[in-house]
Amino acid sequence: MAYIVLDKAKCKSCYLCIDACPKNLIVKSNETGSTGNFVVDFKDEDNECLGCKCCALTCPDLAITEVYK
Ligand code: SF4
Ligand code: SF4
Repeated sequence: MAYIVLDKAKCKSCYLCIDACPKNLIVKSNETGSTGNFVVDFKDEDNECLGCKCCALTCPDLAITEVYK
């Protein structure tokens, strides 16, 4: 089972990772971040994460630093 570690404190709400995830596992949360916009959350109830790192490689703020497979 793959999963990611997301540091919401670093998230600037650009939402690039939402588009980058082929499984649509990253979604807007209802938590406001440093920019005043909603930060993202990782939702993977069906264990679909591929561990592909597309999200981590896309994030300009290094908010997704670890992907475990
Ligand atoms: S590792 Fe891949 S599948 Fe998993 S959340 Fe990131 S982009 Fe999505
Ligand atoms: S790419 Fe990074 S900064 Fe942008 S929404 Fe995703 S986690 Fe936040």
